[in-house]
Amino acid sequence: MTDEVNLNMRVKPAAFKRLLVEVRACRICEAHLPNPPRPILRASATARVLIVGQAPGRRVHETGIPWNDPSGELLRKWLGTDRDEFYDEGRIAIIPAGFCYPGTGPSGDLPPRPECAPHWHPKLRALLPRIRLTLLIGSYAQAYYLAGRRKKTLAGTVRARAEYLPEFFPLPHPSPRNRLWMKINPWFEAEVIPQLRRRFRACLRGVV
Ligand code: SF4
Repeated sequence: MTDEVNLNMRVKPAAFKRLLVEVRACRICEAHLPNPPRPILRASATARVLIVGQAPGRRVHETGIPWNDPSGELLRKWLGTDRDEFYDEGRIAIIPAGFCYPGTGPSGDLPPRPECAPHWHPKLRALLPRIRLTLLIGSYAQAYYLAGRRKKTLAGTVRARAEYLPEFFPLPHPSPRNRLWMKINPWFEAEVIPQLRRRFRACLRGVV
């Protein structure tokens, strides 16, 4: 039996759809949210790339579309992709560290709810057998997936990406608030973005 046949046997679209129904009915941290829960994620069992971001902002919460904001525009530019490909959930899964908008505090959006990733990510990952690359965008995604393997700073973690590849690719958050970070870390655009594009494209094509 070939590896591809084995892989196909492990892809369980019906089980994955059932799990998504459960996620969308989740009320675990309702008491801590500013609005009724609205989990925002997109995925299907055949996806090859997983994008793990932070948590929906207000605009994403209102539209129900992940990365539907200036951060998403920049992320698509980094990846060298367009909206059609980015939102093809059969190829790209988008599952943030927290699925519901957590509200805003004095210095911007609040962190993702800590209950969310530990409860849902292992269940979702177990039904995504074809993922070849997981983009860890921002410190919350990196804290959950890399835990003690993170470096002291975000720049340190991104620079050390060879330690986490081929499974994980750590990235800064493409928020306009991080423009200064991009400016003082020009190696990111010069070295990391070309590598990111190559790896992203190869995983989507199924050549790795
Ligand atoms: S943030 Fe996560 S854990 Fe909380 S209600 Fe939404 S889906 Fe459930």
